[in-house]
Amino acid sequence: MNQKFQSYIAGQWVVGQGSQADENPSDLATPVGEYGVLDAAEVAQAVDAAAAALPAWSLTSPQQRADLLDAVGSEILARKEELGRLLAMEEGKTLPESIGEAARAGQIFKFFAGEALRIPGEKLASTRPGVEVEITREPVGVVGIIAPWNFPLAIPAWKIAPALAYGNTVVFKPAEIVPGCAWAIADILARAGVPAGVFNMVLGAGRVVGQAMIGHKELDALTFTGSVPTGNALLRQAAERGLKIQLEMGGKNPLVVLADADLDKAVECAVNGAFFSTGQRCTASSRLIVESRAYDEFVAKMQARLARVKVGDPLQAGVDIGPVASQGQLDTDLSYIRAGRDEGAELLFGGERVEAPTRGHFLAPTLFAATPEQRISREEIFGPVAALIRADDYEHALALANDTEFGLCAGICTNSLKHASHFKRHAQAGMVMVNLPTAGVDPHVPFGGRKASSYGPREQGRYAVEFYTTVKTAYTAA
Ligand code: NAD
Repeated sequence: MNQKFQSYIAGQWVVGQGSQADENPSDLATPVGEYGVLDAAEVAQAVDAAAAALPAWSLTSPQQRADLLDAVGSEILARKEELGRLLAMEEGKTLPESIGEAARAGQIFKFFAGEALRIPGEKLASTRPGVEVEITREPVGVVGIIAPWNFPLAIPAWKIAPALAYGNTVVFKPAEIVPGCAWAIADILARAGVPAGVFNMVLGAGRVVGQAMIGHKELDALTFTGSVPTGNALLRQAAERGLKIQLEMGGKNPLVVLADADLDKAVECAVNGAFFSTGQRCTASSRLIVESRAYDEFVAKMQARLARVKVGDPLQAGVDIGPVASQGQLDTDLSYIRAGRDEGAELLFGGERVEAPTRGHFLAPTLFAATPEQRISREEIFGPVAALIRADDYEHALALANDTEFGLCAGICTNSLKHASHFKRHAQAGMVMVNLPTAGVDPHVPFGGRKASSYGPREQGRYAVEFYTTVKTAYTAA
């Protein structure tokens, strides 16, 4: 494949400037394709097109929007193998994970096709006689979407689908290293008949394209998923100009393993949560907090299980973990492995690159026995590197779990109803898992975190209506 991926503005494909390689992290000698980047003026055209299309689109019948989203969802589901293959080549997660993500993107479009028909409102009696009060929801306007690379089909889907369902128009900026998946989404929307300007997709660097979006006066709201530093910088800019903003950012998610847990199941939760998708999930279990009484047995079982994990080409059957997505992310992962060693953490498994028949960013799943203060226990790495931390008992484990600036997801493996119930109530996180990996969520319920992980209303499920609509209260005298 050597496709040139283009941007999509006002119903037209736009080539952009230059030719950036769309790399295949499993085989650096064979890129997935190439793409051209936009300049600020072209991004301004995309926002202008979205603003021009807004009045008509915001007044379309919900059925029209539902039909469009349903058609998009159907095509994604029908092509999930092919789209999954593109995703696996471009981002590096294994083919089954990639096909699963494509299917999830399709389901999300179908879910919001239904939600377009269920836009909620209320009618209340006024405190004044003869007056009626109606509370309705209207589109927020032109929505900017800035997405990360780690879920290049599902995250755009869970932002684009509700934005369009509730009558907004969209300018979508994907991460630089996944232009192919973004192009595939735009291509499907275009062929499904999205009116010109209602959906626009702009390729290029965050500091150019993202900045041109947020600087444009016609942008009404911005939804961002990505790292904490970028999110916080966008939050400051949004505050200055009074822009509605939603941020989903990093995590340092704990998985607590109590001595009463089924340890084999706990090991599966830990290996899945910490290392699958190459650890590149905001909900990854990057801190494994294990009760002292089970610690040695858990370590032995983890080492035995990790020895059976296969790292390699994500398209090959039997591979459990694909490559790290980019050279930059690999450098970050290796620098944290060095930091772990330098700070005295004990390497229990991995720590090295993995050789493969092709040149790629392959890295072994890496497990350290760490203390809570070490950097590998505190900072988001976003790779297949986890810190194992010893806890005296349940109370100590809970305190360690909450001892973080982040609050996206927290998990516990236990057979104690008492501890599971207490943990669900007291874990300082937006999502809690009991006897499940911290990563892996349903598409129809809210997703998001607390503390430094998130800002603004939740994403997904019915809760998405909060961000993508604005409330109007109307009073009528009879
Ligand atoms: P990133 O912050 O580097 O980039 C995210 C997006 O922001 C990209 O599209 C990028 O081009 C854009 N961007 C970068 N600088 C910008 C700027 N100055 N102005 C405007 N846009 C800019 O993050 P990433 O490396 O793509 O993704 C990894 C991060 O995403 C991790 O921290 C991970 O935890 C987080 N993440 C969070 C969730 C969640 O829902 N909480 C989900 C997935 C990933």
